[in-house]
Amino acid sequence: MPRYDYRCSACGMVFEAHHGFDEPAPLCPSCGGPVKRLIKQAAPMLRGMAAPVSKYATKEELRAKWAEETPKLRKKLADKLGEERVLKNAPTLRDTF
Ligand SMILES: [Zn+2]
Repeated sequence: MPRYDYRCSACGMVFEAHHGFDEPAPLCPSCGGPVKRLIKQAAPMLRGMAAPVSKYATKEELRAKWAEETPKLRKKLADKLGEERVLKNAPTLRDTF
């Protein structure tokens, strides 16, 4: 019998269920609410990608945000560690914009 992971849409409970692939999803054992099947392998990647994408709608916005934040971050590091160490340890923070 295949094993599936579910998350309750109502209370957020995550649980495992064993049933045939053509059987309908069970109800939440905690509150009886509707559940969604979780795809285990894909979940961490999707979660990682969801954050910036939902926060900044487009690539251009992301780029603009990056262009705005990088000099600030670089300045902060340079003040703290010194210019040379920043260039050595964080080459991506060079003034490329
Ligand atoms: Zn529930």
